[in-house]
Amino acid sequence: MVNRAELLAGTRPEVGNRILVTEKESFEGYQVMDYKGMVWGISMRSKDVVQDFFMGFKQFVGGELSSYTELSDESRQKALDRLLASARRIGANAVINFRFEIASSPYAGNAEVVAYGNAVVIKPIVNYVPMGGLGNLIAEFVDAYTGCKTNFEPTKTYIESPAGEVIENAGYKFVVCPKCKTKYKVDTDENGKPKINGLQDADNLEPGMQIYCLKCGTKFTIPEV
Ligand SMILES: [Zn+2]
Repeated sequence: MVNRAELLAGTRPEVGNRILVTEKESFEGYQVMDYKGMVWGISMRSKDVVQDFFMGFKQFVGGELSSYTELSDESRQKALDRLLASARRIGANAVINFRFEIASSPYAGNAEVVAYGNAVVIKPIVNYVPMGGLGNLIAEFVDAYTGCKTNFEPTKTYIESPAGEVIENAGYKFVVCPKCKTKYKVDTDENGKPKINGLQDADNLEPGMQIYCLKCGTKFTIPEV
């Protein structure tokens, strides 16, 4: 027997000693338990004037500006390390809404990299059920195959008609249109089912016999008489 809880047991691993970082507002399968506030890490790197002069020269002849690329990678890593360190220091185990910003300093040859985000404490959600299309699909699939929805009633393809009131007059039985009160004489056929001369069952899907009122068009059910 497929068990829904077991199939969808999506408990994510504990964060442990790591610090998880995401650019999004949350981690799939984790719950934010505490907000620790903004954390950031800044790294600044000075390049000497001579190097900057050659960079300019390379730009002029169309060479690759590898020196700036290195600076940016190294500075990013430093900024990230500092952000992670301050997140750890305040007891967070994750950073959400993480961003990098690179700004060139007004001083020639300086570049500043800022890494920032919201430090949080997260915890795996027990038996996390993924949200969205796939999650719903799985949930429905499992429902269908485990009978969580216990009754599989056939889909009704008709709208239940109101029943006409049965009255007796002078030994005859009549059914009254629920809307306009027009009376129809009711007989029974050889099986004891109600029958109205000249009218057929108007709806084969709906149980019992229905007619459309000849005067007002209302469809109604002829009760057993
Ligand atoms: Zn009627």
